[in-house]
Amino acid sequence: MFMSESNTAQALVAHESEIKKEKQTAWDAGSDTLRDLVGQGAEQFFKKEFPDLAHAFVEKTTCACCVDEGMTHKDMEEGDKFALAGSGILYRATNEAERLDKVSDLTIARGVTVITSHGGCGAAGLAYKRDFPGVTPLPAVVDKYAIDWAVKLVEAIERKQHTAEHVYVALEEMNRSEEFHNARAVYFDAVGGFNPSKEIGLPMGFVIEKKFISAECAADELGVVADIALGQHGFGELFSAQNPLVVVVFAPNIEQLVNLKKEVAEILKDDKNFQAGKVKIDGLVVEKK
Ligand SMILES: [Zn+2]
Repeated sequence: MFMSESNTAQALVAHESEIKKEKQTAWDAGSDTLRDLVGQGAEQFFKKEFPDLAHAFVEKTTCACCVDEGMTHKDMEEGDKFALAGSGILYRATNEAERLDKVSDLTIARGVTVITSHGGCGAAGLAYKRDFPGVTPLPAVVDKYAIDWAVKLVEAIERKQHTAEHVYVALEEMNRSEEFHNARAVYFDAVGGFNPSKEIGLPMGFVIEKKFISAECAADELGVVADIALGQHGFGELFSAQNPLVVVVFAPNIEQLVNLKKEVAEILKDDKNFQAGKVKIDGLVVEKK
């Protein structure tokens, strides 16, 4: 018994050290790009490295997907994506019926016909803890919770006389490691329709659909994804004042850019990582084609 427990503990330590190595490798792979982004500033960086960035802002979206960078950077064969944390599972509402009503309105307005759920969804985990306080669910339970939400959302859309279907994306099909989040950025998109999968080589990032969701929900989502990126499921302690997480604001004009950067700072003002300089707020004006 003792041996077996000791072996299990050893295996766990070995696994953790393996993940730490994998994380460092992934971090190093993105570091040149991030050095340029932080050093040059967002405006110069994107204009130089991604001169055709405007085409990554799409008009028509087909799939509701999570804000998870493994989804936002994934090219979906069903079509372009509209990002909501856990496909709306965390959307602010007094109860599930109201949440389904609000999120179905949003997705219908964006032309969405596919509701995705995905394996290992952090938003679904938070939703589970919101609905069952004090319970720490197993990963399979969280996966089922994410799927159940997506199916209910499909039904809510159908009740409003629109068609929709559910598509599940397994963790291994996502555009990131199964073990951790590799986001170095959060795209706070007030231009609308940003799909990072339209450009190769963009810094890995969560997407907040600022243009289409309420200010409160955008603030909720920004808080959630910053916690994930800066926590143990993300690059965590690898972030520093020299190598910060970058919130990239996309704005349609300079006035909005200035205001949105202030809005982001206000949202993050109590975050200890922000206070420690581990989050940089930057951005640029994007004129949609
Ligand atoms: Zn998710």
